[in-house]
Amino acid sequence: MSIEVKSVTVIGAGIVGICCASYLQRDGHKVTVVDSVAPGESCSFGNAGGLSPGSIVPVAMPGMLKQVPKWLMDPLGPLAIRWGYLLPVLPWLIRFVRAGRIDRVEEVATALRALLGPVFESYDPIAKAAGAAGLIHKSGQMHVYRSEEAFRKDSLGWKLRRERGCEIEEIDADQIRQIEPTLAPIFARGIHFPTHGHCSNPFKLVQMLAEQFERSGGTILRRRVTGFRMGEGGPNALQTDGGDVPVEHLVIAAGAWSHILSKQLGSSVPLETQRGYHVTVADSDIAPRINIMWADAKFMATPMEMGVRFAGTVELAGLDAEPDWRRARVLLEQGKAMYPNLRDAKFSQWMGHRPCTPDTIPVISRSPHHGRVHYAFGHGHTGLSGASTTGRVIADLVAGRKPAIDVSPFRVDRF
Ligand SMILES: Cc1cc2nc3c(=O)[nH]c(=O)nc-3n(C[C@H](O)[C@H](O)[C@H](O)COP(=O)(O)OP(=O)(O)OC[C@H]3O[C@@H](n4cnc5c(N)ncnc54)[C@H](O)[C@@H]3O)c2cc1C
Repeated sequence: MSIEVKSVTVIGAGIVGICCASYLQRDGHKVTVVDSVAPGESCSFGNAGGLSPGSIVPVAMPGMLKQVPKWLMDPLGPLAIRWGYLLPVLPWLIRFVRAGRIDRVEEVATALRALLGPVFESYDPIAKAAGAAGLIHKSGQMHVYRSEEAFRKDSLGWKLRRERGCEIEEIDADQIRQIEPTLAPIFARGIHFPTHGHCSNPFKLVQMLAEQFERSGGTILRRRVTGFRMGEGGPNALQTDGGDVPVEHLVIAAGAWSHILSKQLGSSVPLETQRGYHVTVADSDIAPRINIMWADAKFMATPMEMGVRFAGTVELAGLDAEPDWRRARVLLEQGKAMYPNLRDAKFSQWMGHRPCTPDTIPVISRSPHHGRVHYAFGHGHTGLSGASTTGRVIADLVAGRKPAIDVSPFRVDRF
């Protein structure tokens, strides 16, 4: 099918926007990316690097509500709410809890499997072209639990994965240590995902894809978008802090800020930031091989080019509050419990804004109001894994091709 060459502007130079731009450019379109910061400097900078075709279990699950008080009471717990933010976040929380119904959870897992399943195939052509294939490792992943009881609590999640064809192997304490001998002998049960992997430098991946995009003729503009000038067929210019930028086709991939822009174009989306933290320990004296999720503590440890990264936690405090670095320190303490030989003299810490819908499914959709506007945001905890296939789907939608996955669960008007 021959593709009509279009002028497409992508708002957002995170991993999602850059994957969209890369795939749109491969279709021959004239593509511009607009962002107020350099590529990858926002949430895509510091994630845990997990590349997880089987991360299909929604964040809200049946029975989750019972665990929330325990998590909130625990200063080391995986969830925190700034009390001053409780009222503003309440409507989103109600939708979030409602999305944890069993029938809805089944639908969500099916949609996420379609998006995340092809993560490696979707990165392959763009990462190779950018010389970044060496950052992507399909070396497996483990989820580990301290007790049989904690493992059993997640049994619905493992069932959802198995039923959707995710390759998973149940393992015991000995097998865990065989796979990763540097781990403390504190884990009783685990799951091994042989077909998962990790990216050893998520920021560099975005940078390299963005550099390739520019080498191939793409433009990256450093501007903050404040609004839209509307013409007959929808928006015909972006209003930015550097003046107006004319646009024809538009993709909004602005991460946790996307709902501010989509609302101006008639689509209200309940998007909330689940703030997450990392510490990256350099010269740690340990060399883990693979990406490991300590499942009952809800954080990941990943071997990165820069050191070992511990990343996770959820903090509901909005887009503007200052980071609470105690949450990063908690990750460091838990990392030391995980790897007793960890030397932590040299580490950096970071906070980022996960863009989260209440039902865990991102928005990958044409606007119901403007035929030339598309949305690609809300990837939550799995945006690194979901970005590559999102790029392919957005290119299909802009070209008028039928995407390889069913896009109806990702509609912007489902809320
Ligand atoms: C602690 C942590 C661990 C994680 N671990 C993993 C993991 O292991 N695996 C995984 O798959 N995912 C993980 N994630 C999730 C993943 O990092 C995110 O889903 C992903 O980075 C979101 O990418 P994005 O491109 O949508 O957003 P971003 O990277 O935030 O990019 C959005 C961009 O839009 C720009 N923008 C916004 N508004 C405007 C405007 N008005 N004008 C101009 N530009 C604008 C911003 O400046 C930003 O650069 C993790 C996240 C966190 C926080």
